[in-house]
Amino acid sequence: MGLEEKIPSGFLLSTVEALAGWGRKNSVWPATFGLACCAMELMTAGSPTYDLARFGMERASATPRQADLMIVAGRLSQKMAPVLRQIYDQMAEPKWVIAMGVCASSGGMFNNYAIVQGVDHVVPVDIYLPGCPPRPEMLMDAIVKLHDKIQNTKFGAHRAKQIDELEKRALRS
Ligand code: SF4
Repeated sequence: MGLEEKIPSGFLLSTVEALAGWGRKNSVWPATFGLACCAMELMTAGSPTYDLARFGMERASATPRQADLMIVAGRLSQKMAPVLRQIYDQMAEPKWVIAMGVCASSGGMFNNYAIVQGVDHVVPVDIYLPGCPPRPEMLMDAIVKLHDKIQNTKFGAHRAKQIDELEKRALRS
């Protein structure tokens, strides 16, 4: 007889990993900043009409040390890239990144020397969100997809991701 058949019905079984994933996904704290026009839609997503609070995200953090989600809303200039990286490095682990809009995802229409052609050249991206600009509903869809990813992230996976990223950067330089 398996363990599940021995315990009374209604008893909740889980793992520490699943419990941590559940807690993390319901309390993602985004860092507060926007880079360009996509930030208007990001701010709108925080309004009562869209109500990010229901995802446990009403607390946007002014300090990166108390944030675990970076939403890159807008095109990233070469000049701003080191600042973005510094903010990412200061964020608490485990942390996630959404590239919001086509500019953040790939440079978009700004195919020129001044704009980074996708923020994944600077920070590891978990979710790419298309659109110019993406509407708040699309951002919320990205957040729900990120929740799935957070829920299924194994302990230690972020460390492996960091090492992988460092190796990629070393290869690029
Ligand atoms: Fe602006 Fe469109 Fe680029 Fe967003 S994707 S930063 S709205 S040009």
